[in-house]
Amino acid sequence: MIRILIADDKSVNRRMLRNMIEEMDMRSIEAHDGEEAWEILQRDDAPQIVLLDWVMPKLSGLEVCRRIALERLQSAKYSYVILITSKDKDEEITEGFLAGADDYITRPFNGNELRMRLRVGIRIVQMQRDLLKLLHWDPLTNALNRRAVLERLDEEIKRSTRSKSPLSIAMLDIDHFKEINDTHGHLVGDIVLTEAVARILNSLRSYDLVGRYGGDEFLLIFPDTTAADANTMCNRIRNSFLQDPIMSGDLTLFLTVSVGVTSLNGSTSLADTLIHHADDALYTAKRHGRNQVFLADLQVQV
Ligand code: GH3
Ligand code: MG
Repeated sequence: MIRILIADDKSVNRRMLRNMIEEMDMRSIEAHDGEEAWEILQRDDAPQIVLLDWVMPKLSGLEVCRRIALERLQSAKYSYVILITSKDKDEEITEGFLAGADDYITRPFNGNELRMRLRVGIRIVQMQRDLLKLLHWDPLTNALNRRAVLERLDEEIKRSTRSKSPLSIAMLDIDHFKEINDTHGHLVGDIVLTEAVARILNSLRSYDLVGRYGGDEFLLIFPDTTAADANTMCNRIRNSFLQDPIMSGDLTLFLTVSVGVTSLNGSTSLADTLIHHADDALYTAKRHGRNQVFLADLQVQV
């Protein structure tokens, strides 16, 4: 559901906008000054549309707008900004747009006009969301795609190096997956891949990540997690396959997975190296008979 931030220091303005948004069946959140607006926009669940007053205490709406515009350049984060202000001179309107506003409306305004402009904003925000989904998600399995998961890995490596917190990754591959395609056809193979990701996600915490690295190979990222803990989690995933076969129509498919686990340490700060280590461990797991989790470096079978 689209959420809208109302940033205005005057309660009468906030109330009017809140009522309008409620009538349109949308949810709103309110900020009383620019600083609070900026703080709300930094959250993971930041509202997608901002109705922003220009003159506000602490931080002006224009400054908030500039920060939003800068952030758009630096990340995939996107908030659609409508500046609402009594500043109606040509040069002020130009200044507002140059600061990064997507739209501009001057007080006093007609309620219907703002409603229509909001609808344009909603259309753009939805388009942006659909585009990001196309760009980042594997359409079959609902995992991140290869490019997106590698981008996230780079971010997590930077974060973990900065905060000196552990980071582990795993390469997981379905055992003898080709046989499923060969025996039951590609469509069943597709169902198995989709169900495999659902199962992996089920065993993970909300901040762990799964991406499809190749055909039946998945890259798992475990932030703030030691190799030993990632190993335990991967064994939990492995057991979930072992305990429950995948059902497709009247087929019961018994599946196992092999996993290679590794973690960041002082000498490995590159994504390529980390992936290489996880891949090596995965192939050791395969060589040793599949259906197992192998820890890189230590080469300890767990
Ligand atoms: P191993 O135990 O060594 O991992 O053997 P495997 O059969 O799982 O591995 P292999 O790499 O030989 O086969 C992977 C197969 O995955 C081959 C390819 O046709 C199939 N595949 C790749 N992408 C898809 C897909 O999107 N859908 C389906 N149904 N099959 C796919
Ligand atoms: Mg395989």
